Amino acid sequence: MKVFSAPQKVTLNITNRCNLNCLYCAVSSTKNAPGDLTLAEWKAVVDELARIKVFHLLISGGEPLVRSDFGAILKHILQLPFRISINTNGTRIDNDYVLLLAETNRLDNIQISLDGPNAKIHDYIRGHGSFASMMQGIQLLQQYNIPFSFFVVVCRNNLKYLKQIVLFSKKVGATQIAFCNLLPQGSAIEHFKDLNLSFGEQKEAEAELRRLKKLYPDLVGGSLVQTIEWMNTISRAPASEHTPEIANKITSCGGSISECSIRPEGWVIPCDRLWDCKVGSVREDSFQSIWLHSEGFRNFRTRYSRRLDSFKECKNCIYTGVCKGGCPAIPYHLGKGIDGWDPLSCYKVFSGQKKLSLLEYQ
Ligand code: SF4
Ligand code: SF4
Repeated sequence: MKVFSAPQKVTLNITNRCNLNCLYCAVSSTKNAPGDLTLAEWKAVVDELARIKVFHLLISGGEPLVRSDFGAILKHILQLPFRISINTNGTRIDNDYVLLLAETNRLDNIQISLDGPNAKIHDYIRGHGSFASMMQGIQLLQQYNIPFSFFVVVCRNNLKYLKQIVLFSKKVGATQIAFCNLLPQGSAIEHFKDLNLSFGEQKEAEAELRRLKKLYPDLVGGSLVQTIEWMNTISRAPASEHTPEIANKITSCGGSISECSIRPEGWVIPCDRLWDCKVGSVREDSFQSIWLHSEGFRNFRTRYSRRLDSFKECKNCIYTGVCKGGCPAIPYHLGKGIDGWDPLSCYKVFSGQKKLSLLEYQ
């Protein structure tokens, strides 16, 4: 398969440490995780990414702002011609960082993790006081007119509060809310049974998000909403009219094709949702050599030449002409491997022709 000389976007997970202890941290961050690349090592990685013309850097973690040299990393990145985004829990945003961010015109987004519209719901997941600290960070961003969005994992804790989350986001001036599903990944594994939505609850969430998307089209988004919209498109098109150019192909995942991530200790991975799929280390090899030549990426990319109906679940399905195959991280975390079928992107499951929750598929 032909690959671009560099990905368009790379996520830099600059630390595995975090000041919070959330019930569903996808990367199992802790307060003392050792082994992060040093400032000098991150600078060298960033220089190479600029040299090979990566367009967009997403700075993430753990919580990136717990690094005492976060400002130095950010300054270095801002000297180079990247567009940037930052993922944060919002509790460590301070004046110095806000001043740096207010001066650049290359910041696309600060995405803050939000679990509920008030301290009670939010802190249940993130720990006492985290809502109040996040609100202080938001006030600083508001003061300097720095745009920010929210990232919301939909689960049992907040299922009944989706509307309030949207109204809260509107009130504080967020530009968007990215809603997504909970996955049994990292520390979420331990709490998955309690927090994961049943089939009926998933349908309830989808119906509510569809309604909210109609009311607040610019604000409501994210992978869960994109899936709902795509499924609505499928439902309107008769199977016979499905687009032949994507017929029977797996085309939905950009991991290892247009984007990838680097873990705090330098491991390169296809995507943050595939945290343990290490394909090489920037401590041992250049990033570009890993991108172009690693066996791990080569194997991962074979997924794209696979036919959709080679999944046993998709055999004889009339939607193979429009279905895009979903996210490999879902079957991976359900114990079916990277080459498995993704029930969260299946139109038959979405439309209720097949009744299945993630727990039942595990
Ligand atoms: S693994 Fe899933 S989340 Fe990651 S890029 Fe692919 S489709 Fe997207
Ligand atoms: S709708 Fe479901 S069964 Fe049909 S092709 Fe898509 S994923 Fe496979």
